[in-house]
Amino acid sequence: MTKTISCDLGIIGSGFGGSLLAIIARRLGFSVVLLERGTHPRFAIGESSTPLANFKLERIANRFDLDWLKPFAKYGPWKATHPQIQCGLKRGFSFFKHQRDQPFTPRLDNANALLVAASPEDARSDTHWFRADFDAHLVDQAVEAGVVYLDRIEIQSANRESPWRLQGLRSDEPVEIRAALVVDATGDGQLLGRALGLERVDSTQLLTRSRGLYSHFTGVARWHDLLGAASTAEHPFPCDAAALHQIIDGGWMWVLRFDHGITSAGFSLDPDLHPIRPDEAPDAEWERLLNTYPSLARQFRDAQAIRPMVRTGRLQRRFTRAAGSDWALLPHAAGFLDAWLSPGIAQTLFAVERLGRILAEDWHTPNRKRRLLEYGETVLRELAWMDEITSTCFRCLDRFEVMVSAAMIYFVAAIYCEERERAGEAPPDAAFLLADEPEYRRLAAEVCRRAPTVRAEDAANFATEFRHAFEAYIRCGLCDPGRRNLYPYPPGECAS
Ligand SMILES: Cc1cc2nc3c(=O)[nH]c(=O)nc-3n(C[C@H](O)[C@H](O)[C@H](O)COP(=O)(O)OP(=O)(O)OC[C@H]3O[C@@H](n4cnc5c(N)ncnc54)[C@H](O)[C@@H]3O)c2cc1C
Repeated sequence: MTKTISCDLGIIGSGFGGSLLAIIARRLGFSVVLLERGTHPRFAIGESSTPLANFKLERIANRFDLDWLKPFAKYGPWKATHPQIQCGLKRGFSFFKHQRDQPFTPRLDNANALLVAASPEDARSDTHWFRADFDAHLVDQAVEAGVVYLDRIEIQSANRESPWRLQGLRSDEPVEIRAALVVDATGDGQLLGRALGLERVDSTQLLTRSRGLYSHFTGVARWHDLLGAASTAEHPFPCDAAALHQIIDGGWMWVLRFDHGITSAGFSLDPDLHPIRPDEAPDAEWERLLNTYPSLARQFRDAQAIRPMVRTGRLQRRFTRAAGSDWALLPHAAGFLDAWLSPGIAQTLFAVERLGRILAEDWHTPNRKRRLLEYGETVLRELAWMDEITSTCFRCLDRFEVMVSAAMIYFVAAIYCEERERAGEAPPDAAFLLADEPEYRRLAAEVCRRAPTVRAEDAANFATEFRHAFEAYIRCGLCDPGRRNLYPYPPGECAS
């Protein structure tokens, strides 16, 4: 016999996004069913948080009265309260440009390195989330809050009736969930988008082009140690306590260290410049890439992958709709670009907060439909905006100094928004990273148009033009050539 459960909200997918929304909805008094294909704890990628993500996490905790969530917004409180839930220290972003077949050689003018601090000290810094632990903890919290959680469920159909009917099998038992509103939090599973037959943005309209090759490792050497004390003396923070971006020809590698000796690392590769060789296994490709860049080979000399290497096809995807009158997709279910600059966790938290506010303010009002539709448009606009920034950076990877100006589109907006948050002046419904600020978008569009054709020898002039154009938005000494690509925090004018 089919087991039938009726609820207000059906959430499919129990990553941190789905679980957090479930917890918020329960806090607001809604009945919630959370459906998961797998079981926790489980491996998940997408681990590096940012200041904007942490502001949003704190705002969610305050807005929805979730005190237990607050410690996770900063490294110090996280370690003090939940040492068993693994994380890593993230003081900022670091970038190093490697040349094929040559050891990395630091330059005095830092023309092949960029460090942007995001926090003034360890205790107040961001974190890398060890998702197996963090996501499992949120599911536990959801269950404690009264969410009905069904794992190991294979959903076979999602019928948009009134209410929705989600039918699936759990240990061969048929289950039916009836829900007034359904949220797709399945990430790359894209369950609802597929079930509704949503149209996809044509792949030629997605500007970023990359594929992934990644795993978790032990034994990864610290980049700081390989560079040596003299070369790192001026670094504003330890360059490994960061989202470390190792840039190669036609791609880059992320290196994210957790405190318990595990490191998440992966290449993001231009599929045209690095096509998959049919006869080359993922591990062999990994080794070949490392061996092309001697300093990366040194960093990974003693590294052991502790899980099978994942090799993806092109990562970019986006639906043309992300919400309807009784359904919504979280950002990772609506689309994806690349791990570059770690936007995913922040975008997801922005979306979760927005949905939480719609549930709180407009569940029973005629505004609900309009607000859900606006939610969907914002999610897509934010994804398209990150596509512009990411693709411009990628098109400049061969000219590091120009790439730095392209990356400043992200950093200037991020730090502007962070300062606004800190001053309590951020509009409650502001989009991620000034995505809804026409003047900022106009200035950025000009940089995105020009950067791909700027020659390396013109990079300094381009950076000067950038600095003048973005003057009204630049905070904390960003883009100051006197800092030679090393940005501490908080430098001078910024409050701590
Ligand atoms: C290679 C890569 C690197 C990334 N790096 C970063 C980074 O450094 N920083 C950052 O901020 N973001 C990063 N991201 C993005 C990040 O992964 C996402 O933003 C984040 O995971 C979104 O969380 P979520 O809870 O919405 O979905 P997910 O974490 O994707 O969770 C989805 C859940 O749904 C479940 N599920 C899937 N299909 C079904 C189904 N049919 N039925 C039921 N359950 C289902 C899955 O088992 C999973 O538990 C990265 C993404 C990729 C692909």
